[in-house]
Formats: sequence, C-alpha cells, structure tokens
Amino acid sequence: MTPVLIVLNAGSSSLKFQVYDMVDGAEPQLVWKGLFEGLGETAHFIVKDISGTILDHVSWDPSDGIGHEEALMHLVSWLSQFREERKPMAIGHRVVHGGESFSAPVLVDDSVIQRLEALVPLAPLHQPHNLEPIRVVRRRLPGMPQVACFDTAFHQTQSDIATLFALPREMRERGVRRYGFHGLSYDYVSSVLKDYDPRLAEGRVIVAHLGNGASLCALKGGVSVATTMGFSALDGLPMGTRCGAVDAGVIFYMLREMKLTPEEAERVLYTKSGLLGVSGVSNDMRVLRSRAAMDVDARRAIDLFVYRITREIGSLMAALGGVDGLVFTAGIGENDVATRAEVITGLAWAGLAHDEAANRTGGPRISSGSGPTAWVIPTNEELVIARQTQSVLGAT
Ligand code: ADP
Repeated sequence: MTPVLIVLNAGSSSLKFQVYDMVDGAEPQLVWKGLFEGLGETAHFIVKDISGTILDHVSWDPSDGIGHEEALMHLVSWLSQFREERKPMAIGHRVVHGGESFSAPVLVDDSVIQRLEALVPLAPLHQPHNLEPIRVVRRRLPGMPQVACFDTAFHQTQSDIATLFALPREMRERGVRRYGFHGLSYDYVSSVLKDYDPRLAEGRVIVAHLGNGASLCALKGGVSVATTMGFSALDGLPMGTRCGAVDAGVIFYMLREMKLTPEEAERVLYTKSGLLGVSGVSNDMRVLRSRAAMDVDARRAIDLFVYRITREIGSLMAALGGVDGLVFTAGIGENDVATRAEVITGLAWAGLAHDEAANRTGGPRISSGSGPTAWVIPTNEELVIARQTQSVLGAT
C-alpha cells in the first residue's frame, strides 16, 4: 500500500487538488490532479493523471447544493474507489496568511485553527476559503493529519526595515507591516535555481510571478530580501483584477467624495481594477493580447502592466545592490512571450539583452550576452506544499 498526500488549494468557488505518492527519503511524486469549479452553483469535478488523460468528471445542478464540504467528501470517496493500492496519509493546505507567528508549515490542531481564524481580517477575501476545507477535514475525517503551508512564510527572512511601513509604532505592534505573498511559488523557484545555473542560486535574483495575482520577489542566496506585495495581496504590481499599489489617499477619496462604503471600495480594488479595470474588457492576458492592435484600452492595460513591472524591478535591483538574474513564472510569465520581451527590452539599461529566438521557444534562458541573465521557470506551488507536508509529518 503506497501512502499518498493530498494537496488542497481552496478558492471562493473552487477546490484544486493534487495527489502525491510519498516515497521515503525522496521527492513526493504527483499521480493525479484535478479541480472542482462552480461550487455553490453549477459544480463540476474533473480529475486527470500525470499524462493529462481525464480519469473522471462529474457535473451537478445548483439544486444538488455542492459546496466545499460536499466536494471534499466526493474527492475522498473518489480516491477510495480509485485507490490502486494507495492510502491517504495526510492533507496539505495552501493558506494565504500565516501572520507573524507562522514562519514555517505547521501541523493543524484546534489551537492552530483558532490562530488562523484570528488572521482572517488580514486576508478577508482569501483566508476564509483556505480555512473551510481544514475545518471540514477536522470534522469529517478527524484522524487525518493536516498541514497548513503559508504564502507569507517564505518572506520571514526579510529584514525589519524591509517589512516596515512608516506608520506610528502602535500600528506595527498591531501587525500592520509588509508580509509578502506568493511565497510557495518563490520557494519552488528558489529550490530549482541551481538546476538552471548554480551561480544564480548563490546570487541576486528577481523572480516575477505573473499570474492572475502578480508580484516580484528579490532573492539573495535563495532567500527573500524584498517583495512587492505588502500587508495585503493588493499591493505592488497591477494584477488581473487587483489594483496593485495606489496612493492611500485614493481610498479616502472613494469613501468621502465618491460615497463608496468600505465594502464597495474593497470590491473595486480587488475585483474591478488591474488589467480588467484599465482595459474595460478582460482580466485575461490572452484576450488583451488578441485585441491590443485594435483596442487602445487593451493596449494601455498591457503597457501599464509592463511599465509597473519594469519600474518595480528597478526598485528591487536597488534593494539587492544589483542583479544577476531575472526569472519569469506563473501563467503570464511562463506563456506570454510578448510580456517577457517588453520587460527585458525595458531593462536594457541594466545590461539585460533579449534573446528573441530563445524567448519564442520558452528558453529556459531567454537572454544573451554577458550581463544579467533572464529565464523562464515554471512554478509548482503544489509540489512545495507536498514537500512541506511530508517534512512536517516526518518531523512528528
Ligand atoms: P492564478 O494566479 O489564477 O493561478 P495563472 O498563473 O493561471 O493565475 O495565470 C493566469 C494568467 O495567465 C491569465 O492572465 C492568462 O491570460 C495568462 N496566460 C495563460 N496562458 C497564457 C498564454 N498562453 N499566453 C498569454 N497569457 C497566458
């Protein structure tokens, strides 16, 4: 009987999962992956093997009332039917916020759940969804070990100064500081840099995680020294629907002059801004690229995205005292040749030289010359959760 780990990544209406074989002393091996979409409405379940072959799929009507709990129990029963001599030993969860106290993955018990619930105000749109499957497993599968893996934890290596806002000291004491996110992705990229270029792993590297959520991280010797996201997952770069950094005064203007409620303002900043807000068309880079030639607003949204990335890379170069390598990852970073080309070209002043042919075929190295190098490295946040879960279990 092979022991397996289940990795869960829960969103507001989705539950992504991966199943890994646990092999003593070796890297967890992915066997199945899938997701539930449309939870609470027209829910859909699909699961594939590692070659991408669909093993099973099911759709439900809204009247079936399939939410996160039902989805999770469906997954457990699917696994027991499709077991192939495999036995789930633990579940690893993506949890967006670990606050100040969780600087590493942690085995979940009731007190950990309570402490994670206390962090909901720091990530009100993400943390509750991450906690839901943890509570369901605790209730429905009480003996199953669970490990919470945090998007914030990787940044705990940053200096006090890098995490500080210039606000009164009592704010800092209340936890108002820069945390940083996408840490599971940066952890993965950091762990594989040596396979691309051993000098990079030791050097000064800027990683651009460009997906629906987007941020940059400055790595020195593989650890985080600065990042563009701050207190919340709103800060830094413009994203699919999030605004990125805006002057805090804009929010007072929205509340006082435009008479938005705090909830309305929050919705604007999280769900109506970014590529979607500027283009008025879509949050999807593929759609924007396909329209950019004839749609001036689609073009402006892309131009702003690239401009902000390039400017923030300049800022992180200053934090690192220079740069040896730039890595593109996540949906846009791994797939959008034009965004990579525009960013690298915008950094010619820093010695980066775009290798057009290599960029078109996905590199992995997409720069030429003797200056800083540029790379495409696919991220794998789920593998980091599987690794962390295995290591926490091994330590207990
Ligand atoms: P999430 O943060 O939801 O995990 P992803 O990492 O999947 O997001 O990234 C989603 C983004 O990646 C979307 O803007 C999408 O348009 C973009 N993307 C995915 N594939 C391509 C592609 N082939 N070309 C350009 N952009 C792409």
